[in-house]
Amino acid sequence: MIPENSTSDFASYAKKTTLFPSLVEQRQGRGPIPRVGEAPLEKIRADFPILSEQVEGRQLVWLDNAATTHRPKQVIDRLVHYYTHENSNVHRGAHTLAERSTDAFEAAREKIARFLGAPGANNIVFVRGTTEGINLIAYAYVKPLLRPGDEIILTLLEHHANIVPWQLVAQETGAVLRVAPVDESGQIILSEYAKLFNSNTRFVSMTQVSNALGTVAPVQEMVAIAHGFGVRACVDGAQSVSHMPVNVSAMDADFFVFSGHKIFGPNGIGVLYGKEDVLDAAHPWQGGGSMISDVTFERTLYQKAPQKCEAGTPNVADAVGLGAAIDYVSAIGMENIARYEHELLEYGIRELGVIPGLTLVGTAAQKASVLSFVLNGHENEEVGRYLNRAGIAVRAGHHCAQPILRRFGYEGTVRPSLAFYNTPGEIELLARTLHEFVNSSL
Ligand code: PLP
Repeated sequence: MIPENSTSDFASYAKKTTLFPSLVEQRQGRGPIPRVGEAPLEKIRADFPILSEQVEGRQLVWLDNAATTHRPKQVIDRLVHYYTHENSNVHRGAHTLAERSTDAFEAAREKIARFLGAPGANNIVFVRGTTEGINLIAYAYVKPLLRPGDEIILTLLEHHANIVPWQLVAQETGAVLRVAPVDESGQIILSEYAKLFNSNTRFVSMTQVSNALGTVAPVQEMVAIAHGFGVRACVDGAQSVSHMPVNVSAMDADFFVFSGHKIFGPNGIGVLYGKEDVLDAAHPWQGGGSMISDVTFERTLYQKAPQKCEAGTPNVADAVGLGAAIDYVSAIGMENIARYEHELLEYGIRELGVIPGLTLVGTAAQKASVLSFVLNGHENEEVGRYLNRAGIAVRAGHHCAQPILRRFGYEGTVRPSLAFYNTPGEIELLARTLHEFVNSSL
């Protein structure tokens, strides 16, 4: 149930925002067809076969993009092409398919490096996803630095994937976790964050965008503060890379991680970016083939990164598919995507803001994609089920981010989350269905 004393009122927040009128005009037939940059929204949507799916006898409305995104046919076709024409193990074969496969795999690494503004392809390690990337950093780089009493700084906004690995290494070494607080809007309080640093601080890890609230954290400033204390920093980009331009060099992050499935790419593939010196300093993460330069029973010599961190046969096809996803969003333009989604988010805030009893959870001025809310007198799961009957897919629950929701007095929320293929019409349907739900339960 929703606590009576909730502090962040969606309606008053909505009034404070500067709304772009263009989407409203488009819906009223007074403006042009919505475009994301140059690309008409209808054309973009036609690239995503699953968006035409019917659920519960209704047209699917996918507003669960923070959990996972859908794949355009360009990504699906790339996977089919890989398995039809290129499939082979990489790096070792003396034959044509090994060459094709290796070229495709390494080309994907280069694309990702360019997309992130990384110095080069050797800064890019393929992992299973954000979770594996953070575990790799925790065990291979940070744990060997830790002594009892050392401190790791996190923020209250973190997903469990950026909490639990740190808890595990802390338990194993006697280190302790310190947590940067947020204000009433769900934004990091920079001055409080800065106060957490001291001579025992060994590492800091922070999300760029909160998956539960949508808060965009000031990561560039946070990394600079960490560096001012001689501390290395990891940025969790799981919820940022698909919504805004990211440049790891400008951000000066020592590590940056994201998952392919959250940026229109395949499942089971993700990226760990690391600066050259931190990747060099990292211990081997897993042992096996591909990561070695020489093995005897007495000792092993390792390859340099990224191979040192990629033991065993990699997930070649999905890395190639992720490269295709990066090509897809790059062709639309991350600036264009960010601008369109911002308009859509503000439109959503206005449309939902007039629903009686609805409270927005997370009202930071800097916000991306997420419209988390609770509805007075209703369980989140009940709201989610009602929306599903209208074809609308949202997440209801704790979103693997219990500490930040508890900060606001909640065990869960209903969380519509946007991507650039969502339309103003879908937002209106969401709002209309919520009005119906509220009226039907009066
Ligand atoms: N970090 C954030 C901010 C997330 O939102 C998620 C997933 O929702 C993760 C980490 C974990 O990502 P994955 O499950 O793809 O490893």
